[in-house]
Amino acid sequence: MPPVPEAPMKRRSAPSQRYFDLVEALAGPGCPMCAILLQQADKLLQSILYERWKDQPTHDAIRARQGLCSGHAYQLTQYRGNVQTVAIFYRSAVDEVVRILDEMERSVPIGTGRRRRREARSEGAVLAARLAPRGPCIVCAALDETESRLVETMVEYFDDARLRESYEASDGLCLPHMQAVLAACDDRTMLRDLVAIQKRIWAQLRADVEAFIAKTREHSGDAIEPREASSPSRAIRLMPGEHDLFGVDPRSAWRWLDGDD
Ligand SMILES: [Zn+2]
Ligand SMILES: [Zn+2]
Repeated sequence: MPPVPEAPMKRRSAPSQRYFDLVEALAGPGCPMCAILLQQADKLLQSILYERWKDQPTHDAIRARQGLCSGHAYQLTQYRGNVQTVAIFYRSAVDEVVRILDEMERSVPIGTGRRRRREARSEGAVLAARLAPRGPCIVCAALDETESRLVETMVEYFDDARLRESYEASDGLCLPHMQAVLAACDDRTMLRDLVAIQKRIWAQLRADVEAFIAKTREHSGDAIEPREASSPSRAIRLMPGEHDLFGVDPRSAWRWLDGDD
């Protein structure tokens, strides 16, 4: 159990729970924001699975999103037992798409075999849009809210000595969270300090990866330090952010939903 951090000295009001969460997470491995969000996702998924199977708003949200997002849906299958709860929720999701297809079936024009390709494509795009989710993944929506608060807290307390020291000694922010904090920053001193600290962290990571490559490639016999040994996996986690928090890149098959030809 890590020591409970002291309250920051300069604040007028008591620091928020988010401040303590951040300071605590900065002492652990990886991006502190990713760590907090992963923990929250785990709690939420367990609550959905073990407590909310009769909760109507949860059912409604799952119906509107046609399930959870891909990442959280697969995470849901990682917990032991309660497969029936998954089935109950996904009955709502599948029922929703069957209902939409049923409406579509009745609305698609009959005898369109000679219709020009462009017209058919535009009709197809309209139908595809009707299958789009009507709401967000409930887990993603909750994480989105927490993420915004964490970014605000990082900006608000950036001049706090304890948070600063913890950040300097940490694995740093992942790339998406670094971008989020930079974008939320409204102070030039903070911008400079943030860039300088994160650069030192990433430069150290680069040095660790380089040392790992050199030592493994040359079979030099030099002992690989623990931080060098962990550097490839740290880089993989810190560049895109943690697994299941940030999705895959948008793919070209979806361009027609934006109306492109
Ligand atoms: Zn992160
Ligand atoms: Zn999600």
